[in-house]
Amino acid sequence: MIPRGYSSAEKAEYEVWWAKNQDMLVTHFTAYRNRQQSKRDQGATVLDGPDQWIPRNKRAELRGIIARDAKCAYCERTPNEGGGYLEIEHFLPKETYPDKVFELDNLLPACKQCNTCKGAVTNRGGSEILNPYWEETLQAHLLMSLEDVRLSGISDLGKTTVAKLGGSLNVAKSLTRTGDGNGGNVFEEIRGALFQRQKIKKQVTRDLESYRHINQPGALKDILCNLLSRVSPSEPMTATWSSLLTQNTVFLNLVQKLRDLDAGAGEKVVELLEEKSFYSLCPRGDQKGMGHS
Ligand SMILES: [Zn+2]
Repeated sequence: MIPRGYSSAEKAEYEVWWAKNQDMLVTHFTAYRNRQQSKRDQGATVLDGPDQWIPRNKRAELRGIIARDAKCAYCERTPNEGGGYLEIEHFLPKETYPDKVFELDNLLPACKQCNTCKGAVTNRGGSEILNPYWEETLQAHLLMSLEDVRLSGISDLGKTTVAKLGGSLNVAKSLTRTGDGNGGNVFEEIRGALFQRQKIKKQVTRDLESYRHINQPGALKDILCNLLSRVSPSEPMTATWSSLLTQNTVFLNLVQKLRDLDAGAGEKVVELLEEKSFYSLCPRGDQKGMGHS
């Protein structure tokens, strides 16, 4: 489970607004939905913009609150890592659950790619795919291979999630068609979530290799703590950093070296390691694929 980016005070204030205006807002949204439907029924190809369901004066504020999360709920990329700007995604679809159209916990930040893949998921009667903010332990559902950093599902919910979102979660690069402004086609390369995970794996492997010969306990402790600080739920790619660091043989050997050099400092790092392992999607003891020493 990952925590939301907004504070509880912010949420409380939002909920007061939502409770006060719920009837009006649901009516507003339902009218928008019906308008779209009748346009579709009449064969219209141009519909109202997707943002029309948000009252204009509330749009920026709502975006501001959702943007506190700063990363895509599904692939954990930030917009500048190829995910484009973050969109507001309704976990329970607004078409089926108009009463949840503005419910804060139902509004997830999602990158364009994940939101597009997620689009068709109905989530009728609850959840068809994982909601990273709901599940206590994502490790029960998803597995990250340390060999090729691909994600796979291990529970039914995890399997459906990877099946539905795999087009975003397990893609390294894709081409998207953009216009050249003159009616011609231009293809732009999009770096996927898998590309980002591969990049982190390379970086972790290279960095750890360069730390192998460090024998000064103070320096070693700083390095290990600094690496573990990358595993932060408020930062991008938390699960990847945790999986690649906390199960890594070279990393664990460095922790052992520190314990031998300075037991006190070693224990501090072990405590931190335990805490950061929570976000790993790789089972303990599975250290294949990382450089053995
Ligand atoms: Zn995403």
